[in-house]
Amino acid sequence: MQHFPVFIAVAGRRIVVSGGGGAAIAKLRLLLKTEARLTVLAADPAPEIERWAAEGRLTLTRRALEPGDVLCAALFYAANEDAAEDARTAAIARAEGALVNIVDNLEGSAFITPAIVDRDPVVVAIGTEGAAPVLARAIKADLEARLPAALGPLARIGKMFRKKAEDLPTGRARREFWRDYYFSDGPRALAAGEGGPHAALHDLLGRHLGRKARPGYVFFVGAGPGDPELLTLKARRVLDEADVVIHDRLIAPEILELARREAIVIDAGKEGFGASMPQQDINALIVEHARAGGQVVRLKSGDATVFGRLDEEMDACDAAGVGFQVLPGITAASAAVAALGQSLTRRGRNASVRFLTGHDMKGFADHDWAALARPGEVAAIYMGRKAARFIQGRLLMHGADRGTPVSVVENASRPDQRILATALDRFPAELADARMSGPVLTIYGLAPRTALRALEAFQDNAEKQELA
Ligand code: SAH
Repeated sequence: MQHFPVFIAVAGRRIVVSGGGGAAIAKLRLLLKTEARLTVLAADPAPEIERWAAEGRLTLTRRALEPGDVLCAALFYAANEDAAEDARTAAIARAEGALVNIVDNLEGSAFITPAIVDRDPVVVAIGTEGAAPVLARAIKADLEARLPAALGPLARIGKMFRKKAEDLPTGRARREFWRDYYFSDGPRALAAGEGGPHAALHDLLGRHLGRKARPGYVFFVGAGPGDPELLTLKARRVLDEADVVIHDRLIAPEILELARREAIVIDAGKEGFGASMPQQDINALIVEHARAGGQVVRLKSGDATVFGRLDEEMDACDAAGVGFQVLPGITAASAAVAALGQSLTRRGRNASVRFLTGHDMKGFADHDWAALARPGEVAAIYMGRKAARFIQGRLLMHGADRGTPVSVVENASRPDQRILATALDRFPAELADARMSGPVLTIYGLAPRTALRALEAFQDNAEKQELA
């Protein structure tokens, strides 16, 4: 961010505009919405500016700007539509202590004016740092269409009611009251006229005060493999309403961004081997926050039901009498085969697929290895980086074909996704060479689709040559 968005207090303060043409008029239209005292300096002002001056909405001085004209001003706009005059007046304004904007001159400006959606006191400012004014206007139009016109009056009335609403406990109870006000009772009351939103607010508050506090609740949410767009709509909604978010190490920052601003976000990250927060502590945290009445989102990478120690956390909830729900997510294996352009199962090739973790394979019985070593088998191996050599050894020992394709997908679905296409005999060495530091998923038995095509073409050719 090269520009930081803020809202400047301008009520009763001076804003000075130099210029009397179209550029000045465009800025003045915006500035006239504020409670600032406006001064315009222009030797030859347009009739519109003359009219505003006659109506007492601004002070007009019919000459060019001179030193002393910008004293005590909060903001200054150089809107002369003349580069030399803009530079001259901006220099004076800077010297006199105002924040300076030169219209259509990003470099010369200390601030830029955003596109504005005005539902005063609700104001949305949209900026693109000058990069894409068209985009800013499109977003503005979109928001204009979406935000009810009555939002302004509702917010003004709501503001006067804030003290009374403090009778409700902080957190969810208060939030739900305001949500009902802004999105259902308030607009309805405003449309009906009678008594208006004031009466509606009193009724609503009465109803909410009479409610029994809702007990805490836990959502076990699969956050997917990393790309925020692979979150489910339900996951997004509960994140947006969460009081507490307890997440794994693998959860991308872009996804945590979607949590409610006021939510408590706790990193319960566990490194592959050696936990940084013991599972017991995580269980206790979940229960503690739910018992305190919070809506807890337990965010796990991929799907919560796959190698996520979900059962221990559900058991802890059950033991504590805390209600919960599991929201499924996209598991890393799905994202990895999508990256390979392959199916997890395929008619005539493999009717079943195994999900394995590198951790547990050490305890694999011989018959499991023998089954996996058969041609056509497919397995998705989680957390297998450190177990690569062990896995290879066992599979070869049980007669697996040395050329069986093995694909390793690092950072599946993320911008830094990488694919290593290799074969069983070369797999551990090539994996080490690739120096993958992100999460990796190994798909045993599948090559990337493109590589497969190339291989088939090669084999076809070889066969033809043999025949010839
Ligand atoms: N519940 C998760 C798995 C948790 S175990 C799921 O359903 O995906 C953690 C392992 O998942 C990692 O060691 C890695 O093997 C795999 N993993 C998670 N996200 C991944 C990603 N974006 N790319 C590749 N592998 C990933």
